[in-house]
Order: sequence, then C-alpha cells, then structure tokens
Amino acid sequence: MKTDDERLVALDKAHLWHPFTQMKEYRSGSPLIIERGEGVMLQDVQGRRYYDGFSSVWLNVHGHQAPELDQALRDQLERVAHTTLLGMANVPAIELAGKLAAISPKGLNKVFYSDSGATGVEIAIKMAFQYWRNRGDRRRTAFVTMDQAYHGDTIGAASVGAIPLYQEVYRPLLFPAHVVPYPNSYRHGGDEAAMEATLGALRRLLEERGEEIAACIVEPIVQGAGGMLVMPAGCLRRMAELCREHGVLLIADEVATGFGRTGAMFACDLEQVSPDLMVLGKGLTGGYLPVAATLATDEVYDAFDAEYEEQKTFFHGHSFTGNPLGCAVALASLRLMEERRMVEGIEAKAAFVARKLAPLKELRHVGDIRQQGLMVGIELVRDKASREPYAWADRIGVRATMRARELGMLTRPLGNVVVFMPPLCSSEEELDAMTDIVAASILDVT
Ligand code: PLP
Repeated sequence: MKTDDERLVALDKAHLWHPFTQMKEYRSGSPLIIERGEGVMLQDVQGRRYYDGFSSVWLNVHGHQAPELDQALRDQLERVAHTTLLGMANVPAIELAGKLAAISPKGLNKVFYSDSGATGVEIAIKMAFQYWRNRGDRRRTAFVTMDQAYHGDTIGAASVGAIPLYQEVYRPLLFPAHVVPYPNSYRHGGDEAAMEATLGALRRLLEERGEEIAACIVEPIVQGAGGMLVMPAGCLRRMAELCREHGVLLIADEVATGFGRTGAMFACDLEQVSPDLMVLGKGLTGGYLPVAATLATDEVYDAFDAEYEEQKTFFHGHSFTGNPLGCAVALASLRLMEERRMVEGIEAKAAFVARKLAPLKELRHVGDIRQQGLMVGIELVRDKASREPYAWADRIGVRATMRARELGMLTRPLGNVVVFMPPLCSSEEELDAMTDIVAASILDVT
C-alpha cells in the first residue's frame, strides 16, 4: 500500500507538466510538493518547512494565509465568484480600477484587466499598435525592447523578449522588435558607460526610425529575469524623455517591480516617470490570485473612444477578465499595504539585507551583488578578475538553490545569478535567517 506522499509523487510524475522545467530531470528526482503556507513559510507534504525566499516566483506581499486576504476572499465568495466585464461591470473590479488609477503614476487613468503578466503585456502591445491605427497613423508598427528583456511567454510578449534561450525556438512565430542594450554596469564598464551605451543606441534608433515605432517597452529600474540588473540612476527618466521627444509610447512593465518591491509603490515613481501604458501583475493581489492589469492614459483611451460603426473598439478580452474574487483580494492587499505603511518600511528592510549580504562581496566567486529594495541578484563568476561567468553547464545557480533548499529556504536561480526576493512582510528576524541561508548556500557551492 502506497503512502499518500508516494501516491502524489507518482501522480505528479505521471500527469503534471511543469513550466520552465526539464521533465526528464524532474521525473528522476524527488519532487517538492507544497501542502500549505503560513506567513513567510511553506510546508511540504512531509512536513518540512521552508522560507519562501523568492516570494513564490516574485509575488508574495503579505505572506501566505494572510487573514485579511483570506477574509476578503470569503466575503466576496458569499456574493459572486465570477461574472464578466464584457459590456457590464462588477463591484470589486470598479473599486480596484479607481484605486489603481489613484495610486499609479500621473496620467494613468484607465484600467484594463487580464489574468497574468504576459496577457497584460500582450494587451499593452495591442493597445499601442491600435492606438496609432485608430489615429490614422499606419507607419508606427514597430516596438523597441531591451537586451535580455523578459515580458512573459505568450507570442506577443515573447516577441518583445530578448533572452535567446527562451526566444530562439519560437523565432519564426514572433514579430521582430528593435533591441537596445540594457545598461549592465557590471559588464559594460560602470554606470556611466553602460547608461551612455543604452541612451546612445535608443537616441540613434529613434532619430533614424522613430516615425515607424509604436512603443518602447521597459522593465523599469530592475530587469528581473535578465539577471536582476539595476539601471543607473537617471537612465529610466532619460529613456522616457527620448520616447516623448519622438512621439513613441512608453510601456512600463511593472509586473515584477510593482507594489513596493523596489522600495516605491512602482519603480517608475523612483524617477517620477509617467508611462503611457503600465502593466501590473504578480503582487497586485498580494500574490494570491491570477489578476493582472494594463493601465493607460486618457490619451491612449480616447483614441479608442469612437462611434460604434467606426470599429475603433479594443477587441480583446479574456473569460476571467476582472474576476471579482481576485479584485476583492487585490483591494484588501492594497488596503493592508497602506495600513501597515509597507512601502515606507521597505527601505529599512532593504538596508538590513544589504548589510547582511555585503561580506559576500569578498568571496572568490561572487562577482556582483545587485539590489533594489527587496529584489536581490548575486552574480557568481568563475573568475573574479576577468568576470568570466560560470557556464550554463556548471549549473552554479541551480546548485546554490538546491543547497538553500537543504538549509530550509526556497528560491530559483537565473543562470549564474542567485535570486533573493523575500515576501515584503518579512520581519528583520526572518530576513536574518534567510540571508544566512543565502550566504551559506553560496559558500557551500563555490
Ligand atoms: N513581465 C515581467 C517583468 C516579469 O518578470 C514577468 C514574470 O516573471 C512577466 C512579465 C510575466 O508574468 P506572468 O508570469 O504572470 O505571465
């Protein structure tokens, strides 16, 4: 007779196809199966407990089983679980739209819902494209993105992605986008040189082809999946100015950076940038439910605001667009963030983490420690002097991650970059324990 754990492992291996996972390798291992979570801890079916050191893929805000979010979900369940936004509305979706318009950068006054970061990006791309068509400009069809950008895995979102490993196999399916360098200070000669390379390339592109470009999409301040790269100060503002000068729409993809993660409510706030379109996901519901949103300015919205016969409608929607359960939880999450002054508290937590991790810089294989708020990437290199990275086949990030798991913390690497992104609610004591594990895991594998 099999135990229930063994039954689950067998079912998992037989039927579940996991994302971003080589299934052959997965099936040969011992799967980690999470059964419950509480606060910053997750517990597997064998009762082992782990710190959630990557916020369950960068989204958890208030911890697992946050009583206020659970209650908001129960309260909404007593009213209605789902109804559509096609030609009608629901109460939490309206309330949340008003709230998002109030807290987002200046000018973003309209909210279009979807269900994941990728669909939110997809919507921004289609809106930007159609914005120009609706205005009678058929030349502006192209998009600009940044080297190593990640905006999600649907075809449109992947088209503006620039991580070859994720893109190449689908290349024939994707539309081509212009790619400008991301200002990687560690690898491009320091802040000033890196920023100049980015701004110079963008300036030249806009001068030469600006009138063909619909929009430029950027992960503001921190490029996440590309390796937790932090932009030099002022770079985002200059990019926004260049776009404005050339009439190009700016799409800020705040899926990873939004909701306090970088130390401000939105990363754009750090440089007072007001994009034309902004994409939100992950932390929007405190990391509870699949809700995303694409925010637009009145100017963008007005280009769609026409007579029925003109067919300028935004013909896009998903079955679960504006799901009331998700919107109710998002409202509760935002309320809690305000009550607890969470965004204001990030700076002190981030400073504590920075102090704890600083000694790692001395290690022979730690090349760079990058941090903005509670987004941290530690780049491991084979050779510190030449900055030669570990090869993909060295699996250095994977090994550090597996060691961290043995020591009681979950995370997921980005190639040779160890990621640390704790839930925003983590206490100093919890951050202390988690950063100890980060340090020990790196020491043990390098
Ligand atoms: N955009 C950014 C910046 C992201 O980091 C991600 C996910 O990591 C996405 C978009 C895609 O979001 P989702 O996984 O919810 O589709």
